[in-house]
Amino acid sequence: MRASSKLSKSSTKHFQKKILEWYRTHGRMLPWRRGKTKWGRDPYRVLVSEVMLQQTQVDRVLPYYKTWIRRWPTVGSLARARLASVIKAWAGLGYNRRAVYLHEAAKKITSEFGDTFPRTDDELMKLPGVGRYTARAIRTFAYGEDVGVLETNTKRVLLRVFLGVSSLREFNGFREKELLELADAVVPKGKGDVWNQAMMDFGALVCTAKNPKCEQCPLREMCKWYQLQTQSSNLKTQNHSVKVKTRKLRRIKFKETDRYFRGRIVDVVRQQSVPKNQLRTLMGRKYGLSDRDRFDKLVGSLVSDGLIAVSGMRVSLP
Ligand code: SF4
Repeated sequence: MRASSKLSKSSTKHFQKKILEWYRTHGRMLPWRRGKTKWGRDPYRVLVSEVMLQQTQVDRVLPYYKTWIRRWPTVGSLARARLASVIKAWAGLGYNRRAVYLHEAAKKITSEFGDTFPRTDDELMKLPGVGRYTARAIRTFAYGEDVGVLETNTKRVLLRVFLGVSSLREFNGFREKELLELADAVVPKGKGDVWNQAMMDFGALVCTAKNPKCEQCPLREMCKWYQLQTQSSNLKTQNHSVKVKTRKLRRIKFKETDRYFRGRIVDVVRQQSVPKNQLRTLMGRKYGLSDRDRFDKLVGSLVSDGLIAVSGMRVSLP
């Protein structure tokens, strides 16, 4: 099924109008959205903000972004920075690998592209940490191109309004590629930049994953998801209550995951270099990581990700 080909002109226009109207009143003024000139925005700043925003909430990113840009205002300044300083500056933001990616991307841009920041999908996706979403975000926010940006929030809005589901898994036979076509098809001509900002804000503030604000939503009349929810809640009322048996699965706690332990190892090493056996003891005593093999594997993975270095029996930042 091609949802983009089934879009009628009038529903696309209605959707665009409602989203842009909403954004004019409720859109967020975020620091990485400032600084737009007739040539667009600084693609380096867009790259920094987009990498920071991967899997991380806007509120948490804001102070990091401001400090980062004050410290490394250009791609060249970041490329010249020591990797250890970059990893230290990332402390507390999570997914530390992103700091290494940003540093590697800055070095690659300055060494391979000279003064010209890459701008096509192919060029951008060769940068470490840049996937299709980030590449498109740079194309639209830095260069004003009319391409749809698919991230958690924009995906959810498109899926709910046009397909009546909240995630791709719920819709048989519809894939990411088709969703991308749909995202492109609804971008108003010449407004890619503002449109994608509006979609992101709308998904983050109105069409939220949990408890979307449907009663105040300007898209309620055209939203398939809302219509389906209304129908099914009417049915439930008629049939009294429908009891659904759910099997409870044990959820792995975050503090038991590799991600958690990797983060704690980097946190310790950020403070100072430390003998490996001391680090192992500390991880066991303080964080409950008592499995030696697992500890060794985690250290090995952090070394190959470029986040720490082991020299002799000491562990330090690279
Ligand atoms: S009606 Fe509800 S589900 Fe539909 S777009 Fe609005 S907030 Fe999202």
